[in-house]
Formats: sequence, C-alpha cells, structure tokens
Amino acid sequence: MRDMKEAILAVRDEINRAARDCGRDPGSITLIGVSKRKSRDVVARGIDAGLSDLGENYIQEAVEKIQELGSRKVCWHFIGRLQSNKAKFAVQYFEYIHTVDSVKLAREIDKQAAKIQKTQKILVQVHIGGEDTKSGIHPDETLELVREISGFSHIQIQGLMCMPPYCENPEDARPYFHQLATIRDEIGALALPNVKMNHLSMGMSHDFAAAIAEGATMVRVGTAIFGERQ
Ligand SMILES: *Cc1c(COP(=O)(O)O)cnc(C)c1O
Repeated sequence: MRDMKEAILAVRDEINRAARDCGRDPGSITLIGVSKRKSRDVVARGIDAGLSDLGENYIQEAVEKIQELGSRKVCWHFIGRLQSNKAKFAVQYFEYIHTVDSVKLAREIDKQAAKIQKTQKILVQVHIGGEDTKSGIHPDETLELVREISGFSHIQIQGLMCMPPYCENPEDARPYFHQLATIRDEIGALALPNVKMNHLSMGMSHDFAAAIAEGATMVRVGTAIFGERQ
C-alpha cells in the first residue's frame, strides 16, 4: 500500500515549487483531494494524512461518505455535474459547489440554500477548449451568467472553474488556464455586487503546476494522492 502521507507531501512540494517559480504565495493555493470512487476508509486516511479539503463528484456517494466521516473537520467541495434535482443535497453537504453553469441550476441552489438559511459559495464552470465535456458555460456568456446569478440572495459567487481537454504535455494546457484567468480578471474588474472573483479552480494531477503558473487558487488532485481509480 502506497504511503498517502508521502504522496500528499510530494504534491504539496510541487505546489510550493510551482508557486515560488512564478512569485506566488504557496499559502494562497488550496489543495483539494479528489476522493471520488475511493472508500470511506481511504478518505479517512487522507484526512489523517493532512488533507483539509476534499472534492467529490457524485452526490449519492458523497453524501454517504460525508455522513460517515461527518465528525471530521473537512471542507467539502462538489466538483461533479450537478442536476437541479440533486441541488438540495449539494447545498446541504458542501461548502463550495464548483460546477454551476446555468441560471436554472443556480435558481435551484438559491432556493435550497434559502430553506436552510445558508449562503452557498459557488464557482461558475466555464467551458474552455475542446469538446471533452458538455459541462460549463461558453466563455462569451460567462459575464451574463455571473450577472444573473449575482442577483440570487443565497448564493455567493467566489470565482471560476474549468476542466480543459487533456493535454499530454501539461504546458499545452496553459493557454486554457490563461483564458480562464483572463475571464476572471475581466469580470473581477467590474466589481459587481455579490460577486467575488478570488478563486480559480483549475489543474488536476498531471497539470496542476501549469495551472498554478496561470493563477490557480484551488487545484483538484485525485490520482496523485489516492492512486488510480477503479
Ligand atoms: C476526477 C476529477 C479531478 C481529479 O482528477 P485526477 O486526474 O485524478 O487528479 C479533478 N477535477 C474534476 C472535476 C474531476 O472530475
């Protein structure tokens, strides 16, 4: 069994190096361990080994794990596709929802958050590059979506998220990350009420260093910490 603590330290080392290389404070980057399809026991070991933030993709699987691990102090991030009819659970169990890409979904999140008197932190997912995924709002429509969502009183927009196409060479992904950072800067400059653009959720196991070079504040790392998924 591989040593998870070592794996996490190696990832943190690389985060620190990538941050220093571009003159950023490593402390401004949150490592999110992506624990989808990993058992509760494996996730518990990750928490023991120092992970403070965890990302999950599938609501039902996540809710079971969070309930079982409920006593552990973890910041949970929902990073999978979210159907409106599951928004209730995402709001109930997750501090951040990274994958909001429509007004319809935001409206449902707002409604569910209002019911439990919560202000839900969200990121708007932008469709950057290729056709790998159908998720995400078109870059040109991002500002309009952010404006509409900013009107919901139980949602706080925290930034943007993307999942660009897989690039064999992580350096090739940099233009995609750069594009998301540019959109963030443009929207941030407008200083819209109820909109914070302080987060860029981008970068996974194979390309998080490239994402950090382009300004990532949250990196979502699964395989490099928990090993291959079944
Ligand atoms: C699975 C997943 C990750 C982690 O991917 P790895 O390559 O295992 O690091 C990150 N972000 C999202 C949205 C994912 O679905």
